[in-house]
Amino acid sequence: MNFNFKDYLQAPLEILKLRKKWKMLERIRSREEKQYLLNKYILERLKFICSYSKQHIPYYRDEFLHYEFDPEKIDGFDYFSKLPIISKDTVRTNFEKMQSDEKGALNAVMFQTSGSTGTPLYFFKDKYANAASFAMFWRVWENGGEWRIGNKIAALTGYEDGKYFYQWKTRLLKLSSFYLNEENALLFYNLIKKFRPKILRGYPSALYLFAKLLEARNLSLKFPIVITESETLLDFQKDFIERFYGAKVMDHYSHWEGVGSIYTCECGKKHLLQDFGYHEIITDSGKAAKPGEEGRLVCTGLYNRVMPLIRYDTRDLARLDENQSCDCGSVFPIVSQIFGRVEDVVVTPDGRFVGRLDAAFKYSKNIELSSIYQPDINNLIVSIAPTKGYNYDTDEKPLIDELRKRLGDKINIKVNLVKNTDIPRTKGGKVRFVISDIPAEKKLGHI
Ligand SMILES: [Zn+2]
Repeated sequence: MNFNFKDYLQAPLEILKLRKKWKMLERIRSREEKQYLLNKYILERLKFICSYSKQHIPYYRDEFLHYEFDPEKIDGFDYFSKLPIISKDTVRTNFEKMQSDEKGALNAVMFQTSGSTGTPLYFFKDKYANAASFAMFWRVWENGGEWRIGNKIAALTGYEDGKYFYQWKTRLLKLSSFYLNEENALLFYNLIKKFRPKILRGYPSALYLFAKLLEARNLSLKFPIVITESETLLDFQKDFIERFYGAKVMDHYSHWEGVGSIYTCECGKKHLLQDFGYHEIITDSGKAAKPGEEGRLVCTGLYNRVMPLIRYDTRDLARLDENQSCDCGSVFPIVSQIFGRVEDVVVTPDGRFVGRLDAAFKYSKNIELSSIYQPDINNLIVSIAPTKGYNYDTDEKPLIDELRKRLGDKINIKVNLVKNTDIPRTKGGKVRFVISDIPAEKKLGHI
């Protein structure tokens, strides 16, 4: 069975139970006590998921035996981190063995990631995992105080079945990023004006393009909060989205696997939601990152029984903030940056690995949409959908100069001007900022 929105609501009592638990932890005033009780809760959940896996999941039963890992012995995070990190390939290869023998009773629903690198990944989530996801989105969207459950919301994402759709049950107006062009920007603008949602959320590339198209028509659209999701939020997008919508931009990282969630608090810091999924940031050497260090984001889902993901490599990169305290009162760890996929890195002919190339676009204002393609180690093709004011001296030259600063002189850089519809999208309608034909595995050891 494939996912349908109502699957989120299979276990409404679970949603309320979790919400109550999470809120209780949030409300504790003393930082020390809060941290202590939070750790205790996460460890209880890890112990539960691992014990369940030992009992019901053949794959983990074998693995635990092999690593002499006993869930009952989990007395801290160090012991838990003895377990190996699993990848998407682990899930693909052991698909049957990773499923619970209680699958029938758990209301299992099949999910699929959009497979932006080619092969899609299938996995199952059960009623507990779906309840946790619902409670998590509820909590993230209401953060900031502008939206309450029952309020209207508009979303500009990869909706596939037409230009737009009203999902009345959830008071959601879905607008399709696939159809976003000059003409439909006006249609979407009018739909939003009529629907009057409290907040706007969507893919950063789409929200940015929508704002550019409205600005070109001298139209304005204001929201107190804009939630960006699903793609890496690039700095120039954030600046423009903030300015155009007059909004506080709250970036939210999550994924279909439902094991990780990073939200932006009212102070603008990015917190790892450790009571939704246990997040670890693991450096190249396999150790936990220290404040200031970057590493791969490895997550363990705390609720899914039908197909638990234990120490699952998301292939996203993040840097742990040097300053781990925040005025919002949360004790969840803070990351300063989420870098997006390992794949979003360009390799230079002299063997360097360069990420966050979005920063090279900071002086080039007349660009609607862009993407970078690296066919091989010596070449880089930058596709740009220009706006009307685009010209070589103010946009293209500064961009090439900035790219050169980061990538050096040895790589050939070619700029192609294209229509925004010619910029490739994934099946889910997301724009991949960097597309590379250099295998990710070659890059992995170097980040
Ligand atoms: Zn905070």
